[in-house]
Amino acid sequence: MANQKKSRDMQGFVVGTILVLVLALGIYGVVSQFTSQNDTTEKIYSIDYKGQPFLGKENAPVKIMEFGDFKCPVCKQFHDTIMPQLKKDYIDTGKVSFYFTNTQVIGPDSLTAGEVGEAVFKQNPQAFWKYYDAVYKNQGNENVQWATPTFLVNLIKKNVPEVDANKVEQDLQKKTYEKQTLADNDKFNATGIGGVPTIMVNGKYIENGLSYADIKAAIEKELKTK
Ligand code: CA
Repeated sequence: MANQKKSRDMQGFVVGTILVLVLALGIYGVVSQFTSQNDTTEKIYSIDYKGQPFLGKENAPVKIMEFGDFKCPVCKQFHDTIMPQLKKDYIDTGKVSFYFTNTQVIGPDSLTAGEVGEAVFKQNPQAFWKYYDAVYKNQGNENVQWATPTFLVNLIKKNVPEVDANKVEQDLQKKTYEKQTLADNDKFNATGIGGVPTIMVNGKYIENGLSYADIKAAIEKELKTK
């Protein structure tokens, strides 16, 4: 009697286990179908690289666009932690060209910092990257309006001596690059993505821009298709 019950229990257990397995495989099948479908229809954003500063080889097989705000702390983090690895592994090796589009999401002085970037770029395209480094390195609190014309002009005098700082100051006063800087922000808004930095690898949005592993995986995937 006791043995019969045991064997019935056993049967129940086996049937139950098989059912669970079948169900799990079914769910897995549906999920993997969904993700692979997702993979093939990955959204490609149309990115305007023209006239934006870039690092690396112009005809590199992979283009990365950073939409960033010089006042954004996470953009600073991207600059401090991701850029050095990216530069060493992909930009300096000619596999990636890295572009920057200025956005103004943090405060009114985000625009000032952006305009200075445009003014520096106009004078000397490669010097832009010295400004990029200096402004992130000396970034202040995001809730304080630290990116004033005086602060930024002094920053240039100290860190980007190949650029005429007085000319940059005049450009700020005359708002020479205001329209152009605002137009960059419009390009960012057109993507519909709110957060900065926004990192795109050949137009594909990287959800976690602070994950070097994710960026690397996206680059390698693009390199394979070339
Ligand atoms: Ca620009």
